Amino acid sequence: MHSVDATTEQMIRSVLAYAENRLRLDPVPLDKGSHDPAELDFAVSGLLGEDGHDPDLVLGVYASVLAPAVISADSPRFLGFIPAAPAKAALLFDMLVSCASIQGISWLEAAGAIHAENQVLRLIADRAGLPAQAGGCFVSGGSAANLSALAVAREMAKRRGARPGQRWRALVGSDAHASIANTLRLLEMDALVVPGADHRLTGPAAHAAIESDGDPGSLALIVATAGTTNAGIIDDLAGLAAVARERGLWFHVDGAYGGAGLFAPSVRAAYAGIEHADSFVVDPHKWLFAPFDCAALLYSDPALARSVHTQDAAYLDVIHERPGEWNPTDYAFHLTRRARGLPLWFSLSVHGVRAYSEAIEAGIALARQAAQEIKSRDYLELIREPELSVVLFRRPGWQPGDYSRWASRLLDDQVAFLPPTIWEGETVARFAFLHPQTPLELVREILDRMVADRA
Ligand SMILES: *Cc1c(COP(=O)(O)O)cnc(C)c1O
Repeated sequence: MHSVDATTEQMIRSVLAYAENRLRLDPVPLDKGSHDPAELDFAVSGLLGEDGHDPDLVLGVYASVLAPAVISADSPRFLGFIPAAPAKAALLFDMLVSCASIQGISWLEAAGAIHAENQVLRLIADRAGLPAQAGGCFVSGGSAANLSALAVAREMAKRRGARPGQRWRALVGSDAHASIANTLRLLEMDALVVPGADHRLTGPAAHAAIESDGDPGSLALIVATAGTTNAGIIDDLAGLAAVARERGLWFHVDGAYGGAGLFAPSVRAAYAGIEHADSFVVDPHKWLFAPFDCAALLYSDPALARSVHTQDAAYLDVIHERPGEWNPTDYAFHLTRRARGLPLWFSLSVHGVRAYSEAIEAGIALARQAAQEIKSRDYLELIREPELSVVLFRRPGWQPGDYSRWASRLLDDQVAFLPPTIWEGETVARFAFLHPQTPLELVREILDRMVADRA
């Protein structure tokens, strides 16, 4: 298994050839094969057993049955949830990272890789206006980053003094991401949910909620969302930062989806106040064109995170012996980690930041054009002007089943993937743009297919 013999050579040729072909797809098709569990089971049956199989046979099963049963999130036709659009350079470098077995825990083991990752974190911190000492690490996703950051926020509140049996709370907007609710539950915290006008959490609303709250002392932090996932709404970061400062609360900004807008001049002003974040999350595997899975987690004072997350094990003492060395394990709830920031570092270095800004702006521009297209059709209604790259709209008269049928047909015909969402209790249609190659003609085709009274 570990030597380079004839079988290894055969695998290098066939697996790399497959990877090359996948990389060369331009554009990537949606790929909708059978998702039927029985068919999948039949295709792979007998492969896992005491004896091995010819690698080309196994690869053939993957290529012919398993891979087509995956909807390609990086297709420009993938317009649901939050799509992916990894740069080819980043995908290529991810393969290199996989082959290099880099243990990204500590400076001792991986100084070179961590140094490059930290340069990317610095670039993001500078865009946000975070202080010179800001730093953190890359984790698997926004959910892991939110959990790691909120664990630090809770600990800081605790250290200021807790009543016996104290439960801590976080002030959150009504449109905060689902991972925040999960995080609070895991940390045994409660939410003070503050609805905002038009789904936007503002400083005045947070201030009023705290003023009228019976137990403001139990608040540990404010969670702001910089780009809600469902609608792309950026909370009033400056106002919320001011309330957090005034009350001595931690200020967390979840920009897993929308944080990339910091690189888009046309919307940068909407992020004013983000420079006051105590912790900030952005997912490069969303709108910064990195492969799965990659989230950047930054703290304005990383020493606080270190005091919470450093793992104390005798066999690890050696990684903490030299002060000033950066150990990514100390900034989240993980130990072993892949150097998942490296593909982004490579691609940013190859293409330059300007290319990233332009690619992000393309998604924003397409959202604005799509909104125009919707407004120009008398059978459709735009729900709100898009702020980032998500567009919500409805077909008046349609029931939830109509949206589902329309979406299923779009997928069956390999036109697009955009499952409906819920907005204020109503099933509606939603575009999430992110791939710079999604053409306006595709948007028109999708909208044209809604003209019928019943889907
Ligand atoms: C996607 C998203 C998350 C979760 O990120 P994962 O990388 O999927 O774990 C958290 N917050 C927001 C605002 C998101 O859009």
